[in-house]
Amino acid sequence: MPPQLATLLEIQAIEQRLREVDAEIAALPRRVVEIESKLAGAQKARDQARAAQSGNASERRSVDGEIETLRAKVTKIRGHSSEVKTNQEYKALLDEIAFAEAQIGKHEERLLEIMEEAEALERRAAAADQELASQQAEVATESAAAAQRTAADRALRQQLAAERDRLRGQADERWLRRFDLVLRMRGQALAMVDREACAGCRVRLRPQFLQEMSTAPERLFVCESCGRILYLESEPVATPQP
Ligand SMILES: [Zn+2]
Repeated sequence: MPPQLATLLEIQAIEQRLREVDAEIAALPRRVVEIESKLAGAQKARDQARAAQSGNASERRSVDGEIETLRAKVTKIRGHSSEVKTNQEYKALLDEIAFAEAQIGKHEERLLEIMEEAEALERRAAAADQELASQQAEVATESAAAAQRTAADRALRQQLAAERDRLRGQADERWLRRFDLVLRMRGQALAMVDREACAGCRVRLRPQFLQEMSTAPERLFVCESCGRILYLESEPVATPQP
């Protein structure tokens, strides 16, 4: 293969690699956002666990208050027992006490349930805290890896660009102009001749054109259909015969 073509092929390969590195660099900020969004679920679970705990504590305060009120009521009724005059009044008073005590009993049962719920909620909150902490650690590791990757990509980009510029210095001006134009338009500036057709656009090449290509390998041949710079497949590498 003529050296001019070999150089352009190398430049094309580097341009391709640069596009990949640029795409990766561009995608990384989004990746970081994705990583951080994973925390939202764990944060929500933790907040919900905390809210359930505070709901439980507030119900407990309210039930405690009810019991206290009822107990005060019972004490007050008992205090009045010396003032009753008839059996009927006395019976009414006892009924009132019995009713209040039954209510106290119900509240105390609920209080036991609330305390059991509090234990379960405490375990749930601790688990949610732990999950959040472990996800935060994971996110920190992944974000650091992403930042490291970006730095490595930027370094690689610089290296590739320097190598490309070095190769461009060796390339023929006229070939480079055609190369740049087609690269911008089509992404690939060179196309191999494959089964007598341009591998870039698959249009068949005239036999006379192919004949010229093989007799004047140092000339610049361009696909008449897509404009890509054409090159003939390089000589197959001789394989040792058994
Ligand atoms: Zn073509």
